[in-house]
Amino acid sequence: MSLLEMVYEAGVVGDGGAGFPTHKKLSGRFDTVIVNAAECEPLLASDRCVMRNYAAMVAEALSDIQRETGASRVVVGTKTKYEREIAALRSAFAEAGIDFEIFGLSGFYPAGDEQIMIYEITGRTVPPGGIPLALGIVVLNVTTVLDIWRALRGIPVTEKFVTVTGEVKHPVILKVPVGTRVTECVAAAGGTTVDPWMLIKGGPMMGRHFDMKEAESQTIGKADGGLIVLSSDHALPTFSRKPLKRMINEAKSACIQCSYCTELCPRYLIGHKIRPHRVMRSIATGTNQNDLADAMLCCECGICELFSCPMQLSPRRINMHVKSILRSSGAKLENQSIYPEQTHVRDYRRIAQKRFIARLELGKYDHHIDDVGEYEPETVSIPLKHGVGRPSEPVVSVGDVVNRGDVVASVPFADVGCVIHASIGGVITCTDGCIGIARKEGART
Ligand code: SF4
Ligand code: SF4
Repeated sequence: MSLLEMVYEAGVVGDGGAGFPTHKKLSGRFDTVIVNAAECEPLLASDRCVMRNYAAMVAEALSDIQRETGASRVVVGTKTKYEREIAALRSAFAEAGIDFEIFGLSGFYPAGDEQIMIYEITGRTVPPGGIPLALGIVVLNVTTVLDIWRALRGIPVTEKFVTVTGEVKHPVILKVPVGTRVTECVAAAGGTTVDPWMLIKGGPMMGRHFDMKEAESQTIGKADGGLIVLSSDHALPTFSRKPLKRMINEAKSACIQCSYCTELCPRYLIGHKIRPHRVMRSIATGTNQNDLADAMLCCECGICELFSCPMQLSPRRINMHVKSILRSSGAKLENQSIYPEQTHVRDYRRIAQKRFIARLELGKYDHHIDDVGEYEPETVSIPLKHGVGRPSEPVVSVGDVVNRGDVVASVPFADVGCVIHASIGGVITCTDGCIGIARKEGART
């Protein structure tokens, strides 16, 4: 079996958040592999845990990838301040007799945005609306590289490292089966320290927010790596859960067109024609509809709404709204130019993550998490979709008994999607919308 087939069979998807199927990503033509090990969302620490504890496997997998794909350059992009993780990687590389580069990034946000990382490492801008392959580059999250190591040894993706932090008694990095309920993860971290609480799935900048009731139905997917518990009256959830209609009304009434949202936008600063202040103006006035297309270039990093805007408006949410309207009307980005003159001020406009953390009132949760634990639930509910692409089709029926690692849902190799495996051994309890499994004696776990 080829590397691509093994990665497909193991159901590997990108761990960086979007969940793009890795066999699809690796099927392009590229000469450079960049490993995204920046973990730039505040408070999350799962990727660092992988770097510290699985560096040898990461090194081996990178050698395998380079050998199989013929890539001439392999670079790990990480933050200079992650000294222990860099030391672990250097030692693993030396042990394996390989000499891959480690590129140190300063502690700014969003250093882990793949297009920003490419700019930092190569000085080149991915064409607006394009993907890194346009420059012959593929970017893999460091945890995805660990998943590839396992895939090449016939081990499918059935577990995830999840940072559980914020208002929990014992912040921890938990290894849990895919499909574990998020409320069980929170309980495994000692439970919450506030009531009522809300939950962010992902990082504080780009994660999704759930109240206590909504959180009950949430489970860990293959692209999830963080759970942050905050008090329900914390400023972040209060702001992020503002209704869209109110955000649009505020854009109409309160945007002062200062353009800070544009001036500090990281995608604007690598030369893309994204000007959120003009999107806001178009929404407010209904004029210059051409400016709305800028929203298509937004990576939803959140800098504009959580840091830049002096009026506490939400250009990101407005961009997301405009994007969904444009996409549903079939709009596509064409003939986008790069504006190198915009990059000249970039060095002075990068925003230190520390400042962000302070601004978001998250300072009290910003500590190292070294504790690594495991949690094994009695039941799992595995989503049929783990990010970009189509949902997988169940290949099991209710009542079937499965072992951990058995295929329970699949998509054809040619499609964008992923194979899904039983993350615990047991009996299938559901195949409608998710794969439910309850532990059963005799099934291999
Ligand atoms: S930063 Fe805020 S007020 Fe200024 S242009 Fe952007 S949305 Fe409007
Ligand atoms: S969320 Fe705001 S700052 Fe981030 S890319 Fe989009 S417009 Fe730019």
